[in-house]
Amino acid sequence: MTRPSESSPGPAPDRPPSVDRLARSLADIGLPHPLLVDAARTAVAEAVAADEPASALIRARELAEATARALLSDVVNATGVLLHTNLGRAPWSPSSGDDRRYTTLEFDLASGSRGSRQDRAPALLARACGAEAAMVVNNCASAVLLVLAALAAGRGVVVSRGEMVEIGGGFRIPNVMAQSGARLVEVGTTNRTRIGDFSAAIAADPDVALTLSVHQSNYRIEGFTESASVAELAALDVPVVADIGSGLLDAACPWLADGPPGWLADEPAARQTLEAGAALVTFSGDKLLGGPQAGIIAGRADLIAACAAHPLARALRPGSLVLQSLQNLALAYLTRDGWAIPFWRMATEPVSDLRARAGRIAANLTPDLVADTVAVPGGGTLPGVEIPSVGLVLAGDRVAELRAGSPPVVARVTDHSTVLDLRTVHPDDDDVIAAALAGLTPDAAPVQATADRTPSSDRR
Ligand SMILES: *Cc1c(COP(=O)(O)O)cnc(C)c1O
Repeated sequence: MTRPSESSPGPAPDRPPSVDRLARSLADIGLPHPLLVDAARTAVAEAVAADEPASALIRARELAEATARALLSDVVNATGVLLHTNLGRAPWSPSSGDDRRYTTLEFDLASGSRGSRQDRAPALLARACGAEAAMVVNNCASAVLLVLAALAAGRGVVVSRGEMVEIGGGFRIPNVMAQSGARLVEVGTTNRTRIGDFSAAIAADPDVALTLSVHQSNYRIEGFTESASVAELAALDVPVVADIGSGLLDAACPWLADGPPGWLADEPAARQTLEAGAALVTFSGDKLLGGPQAGIIAGRADLIAACAAHPLARALRPGSLVLQSLQNLALAYLTRDGWAIPFWRMATEPVSDLRARAGRIAANLTPDLVADTVAVPGGGTLPGVEIPSVGLVLAGDRVAELRAGSPPVVARVTDHSTVLDLRTVHPDDDDVIAAALAGLTPDAAPVQATADRTPSSDRR
């Protein structure tokens, strides 16, 4: 089959002209011509196969509109899941800069010579969590892979059987270990691993490079349990790497005027994990850190240098968009301006403010739509944690209608009613919510709030 020529003014003679004409009739959809041609060609082929030539027109439009809707686009997250994996985890706008400009990505302004892309955002993040040094890679999975490859390839890494986890998307500690070339040394049992298990393994094995502690981010083991703390592991002869996952920088949350919210209670933080003696910590940029997708390795400068010198570092390095965005984020942390970080602003917005917003949205509709709800951190962090919230609750399942709007609003269904949780909605989008509700076909009878408005837990 011939391809449409994008430069020729008219249809090429060896192509059925109807496809091109059909594609041109779809121009109002706003897609580039080659994509309209794809839709037209599929529609014509279907019409020919079905022997229904007249159907091609409608079908081509349907296909082209579906393609346009399927593009990556902004949505209003009304699910109440703050770090919604399907919606890009933390909401964070990439940069405040002008995208036509060059940057000093690998340029040292003072000397005019080559600099390192790892000098700015990583150094600022290190400063914010009290680390000697830090580097940034593509995501936390990359961070763990790089640390193991750079510091333990061909050598042993001791891990508790209680932390032999799958984080999601096939990221399993034993597999990552195998990919890195490090040798897994398992100790303890699923529910109980003692510090003595680690010291015995190190004594018995002449070539252990590290101990690895992996945070149980997305599950809990409860009951008859025991595990070794980072402080205990740090007293052994080999460096401890702690994969804390979620990227809480400091348990004291100095960027929040009211200090840490109660629901953060048991979450490990980078600063305190390093203070407890971890040689390195690894964490994600887009979970509790509240930034773009990235992986951060922070801790001892000599170990960071070894990671940076490994060939995989080049393969896993971030680009300037991510580094600039992380630099802005790190500056907000160092300014102690949690309000500038959408995740923290949303996570800590007082319920009274949410209720006032809900009241304003419902004022021109039905005031009884306002109900107490429960938001969750999501993103595979803090399982079981609930954050009180307020939303608008409609009878029945209206989520498909809300998704079809522009911009799409993603809500959730609980107990046969549709919940739009305002904790994850930026206040600027309250008007979008009001318009979406006003535009629904009017059979949404208000329902009473019930106790259980918890979103189903979100996978990562
Ligand atoms: C989320 C998580 C990861 C993976 O992080 P990504 O940034 O998604 O690659 C690794 N380890 C732990 C403990 C996590 O919680």
